Amino acid sequence: MKITFAGCGDAFGSGGRLNTCFYVEAETVSFLIDCGASAMVSLRRYKIDPNSISTIFISHLHGDHFAGLGSFLLDAQLISKRERDLTIMGPPGLIFRHETVMEAMFPGSVEIKRKFETKFVELPADAKTSSDHLTVTPFVADHACAAPPYALRIGCEGKILCYTGDTQWTDSLIPAGQGADLLIAECYQLDRKMKGHLDYQTLAKHLPEIAPKRVIVTHMSAPMLNRIDEVDVEAAYDGLVVEI
Ligand SMILES: [Zn+2]
Repeated sequence: MKITFAGCGDAFGSGGRLNTCFYVEAETVSFLIDCGASAMVSLRRYKIDPNSISTIFISHLHGDHFAGLGSFLLDAQLISKRERDLTIMGPPGLIFRHETVMEAMFPGSVEIKRKFETKFVELPADAKTSSDHLTVTPFVADHACAAPPYALRIGCEGKILCYTGDTQWTDSLIPAGQGADLLIAECYQLDRKMKGHLDYQTLAKHLPEIAPKRVIVTHMSAPMLNRIDEVDVEAAYDGLVVEI
């Protein structure tokens, strides 16, 4: 399957990078992991058809990870003329937070009748949920956002993809990423410990326990980007495409 890092920045545009938005294209299904505020810019820039996306996974409820949902839904209705159903999966609180944001940005938009069904699923932690050729198991991470932040373990066509979301180190990242074909890990700092975020030094120390087949770091701050040469794993950039 092919993964496009259509946005791999933090909340502040560090390095000119767009908010988190990973597009995964498999044989049977295409899906999005996170839909940050700039997600529609990402999709247009990398010529990704929004209608190809059947499912959107949301890791946690911060704007740089979910605030693009409103624009995605309006585009689907008005521009992309979507007809197929859409599933949006994320942590408990997703529906309320999404509707609050969408209504604030585009008043009257939440209640509008659309030509496609949007199914929201608030995922329970530590349980596997299946939908449309995909499975997802969320693990509770450590990142304050007034709802449970998740590291997502996604299964698709025999491959396992793990995305840590934003989090400081927590042992739940071990089962979340165990033996994954690809671990996409937050890497906000190189060696500076920070509440709620992961640094490369800590991640590298734990990688043998997680034992992923491949690692790509993402969500880097400006100081981290300045020291990117000191990282021994692959680093994402907007537009990076990888196959696993
Ligand atoms: Zn973030």
